[in-house]
Amino acid sequence: MSIAETEIKKFENSNCAENKVFYQAMEEVIYSIAPLLESDSRYAEYSILERLVVPDRVIKFKVVWLDDDNKIQVNTGYRIQFNNALGPYKGGLRFHPTVNEGILKFLGFEQILKNALTGLPIGGGKGGSDFDPKGKSDFEVMKFCSAFMTELHKYIGPRMDVPAGDIGVGSREIGYLFGEYKKITSTFEGVLTGKPFMFGGSLMRPEATGYGAVYFTQKMLELQSQESLEGKICTVSGAGNVALHAIEKLLQIGAIPVTCTDSKGMIYDPRGLDIELLKDMKLNRRVSLKEYMDIHPDSKYTPVSEYEENSHAVWNIQCYAAFPCATQNELTELDAQNLIANGCVSVTEGANMPSTAEATALLLSHDVCFAPAKAANAGGVAVSEFEMSQNASMSKWSFEKVDKTLKVTMHQICTRVALTAKDYGVEGNYVDGANIAGFKKVADAMIAEGI
Ligand code: NDP
Repeated sequence: MSIAETEIKKFENSNCAENKVFYQAMEEVIYSIAPLLESDSRYAEYSILERLVVPDRVIKFKVVWLDDDNKIQVNTGYRIQFNNALGPYKGGLRFHPTVNEGILKFLGFEQILKNALTGLPIGGGKGGSDFDPKGKSDFEVMKFCSAFMTELHKYIGPRMDVPAGDIGVGSREIGYLFGEYKKITSTFEGVLTGKPFMFGGSLMRPEATGYGAVYFTQKMLELQSQESLEGKICTVSGAGNVALHAIEKLLQIGAIPVTCTDSKGMIYDPRGLDIELLKDMKLNRRVSLKEYMDIHPDSKYTPVSEYEENSHAVWNIQCYAAFPCATQNELTELDAQNLIANGCVSVTEGANMPSTAEATALLLSHDVCFAPAKAANAGGVAVSEFEMSQNASMSKWSFEKVDKTLKVTMHQICTRVALTAKDYGVEGNYVDGANIAGFKKVADAMIAEGI
């Protein structure tokens, strides 16, 4: 039995339905780091893996709030403080009906390694609720956020745990959460990131993840093939914070992003997407993508009901580079086959683990440049850390400074991942490179800090 199989066997009991995605993420990491475990016995001696896959604590609480009809609503809230070897727990809050402990454990575990890759002093955590902000009034969202923070504030702090946004949690929700924290604690401190600029947010935080994913891809293509994205057709999934800003940056650098998707369907505009219209539709008015055709009748809308089984229409469009930016496991093995058949040379994970394990393996085996989420979407958390720095020093960085520092950070992550892959005999494999580099950084800190 290989060292990876032996390690995975130890965690078999945790492979229940709720932990499926957590187990998937953990298995990928264990296979990647096997050469590191073989070359350095300290990691086994100090039981690093056993300690790393169990969160420091899982906080679960009841959230009771009143809807607009004065009816009492009850949701479940969570904060998973996973690992603080490198700095305060740091990671987003997700508000979505699918949220459960297993999904948050997967996201929190990935966050530890992602944050380590940034080279910044931040640990890993994640949280959220099964509350669905969709279809709720602003007042209902406000009331929910207040009730959520009434409980959460006991466990967070600028040097302890600093949550941010994720799916369903944008600057509106962060604003309400921050307002409630301030009210309860009578302090004005950098306890959340992703705040609106007017009260402590960093410029460019909304853009950071999407822009960062494009910066990473530019560097990866330069290192792997001296190619650029200019003039190239790109497909993007999602129509939220990450997807829209990836599309915006692609347009700025002269690429041609032609698709985006939401949970109901896909827009395909072969001339290149109209980003201003999309931002107005999705960030301001929160309407269906179908409306895009009212302004651009030459574009095509495909509803989810017309997708083929186990595949997604967006990955069947011919492209040079693909950017899955919606949610986990949205790019299947069949989708990967379609991308390869259509000549796609690069896949960048803007969302967290959007590719299934089978899809990732297939893309790698066909030498598609594959940028894994924990490296490629680290731009968001990097700028969150810049926001923490600005809050701590009561200063404000210019847009240019944030953008420049973000670009340097993404290029450094890319180079570090590429060099690590080379050092461990898997040149060009950014999945293994990212897992080994991230794990090593956290593991060495855990050893140095004792048990
Ligand atoms: P948003 O809530 O802003 O947008 C999510 C988008 O994905 C929406 O368009 C949504 O459609 C679509 N979507 C969500 N679930 C599904 C689904 N099951 N099937 C199809 N489409 C779906 O989230 P973000 O853009 O912030 O996050 C997207 C991904 O990026 C997540 O995986 C998140 O964890 C990750 N990420 C986000 C960061 C950030 O800074 N925001 C940082 C790092 C990672 P609809 O509009 O219909 O709901």
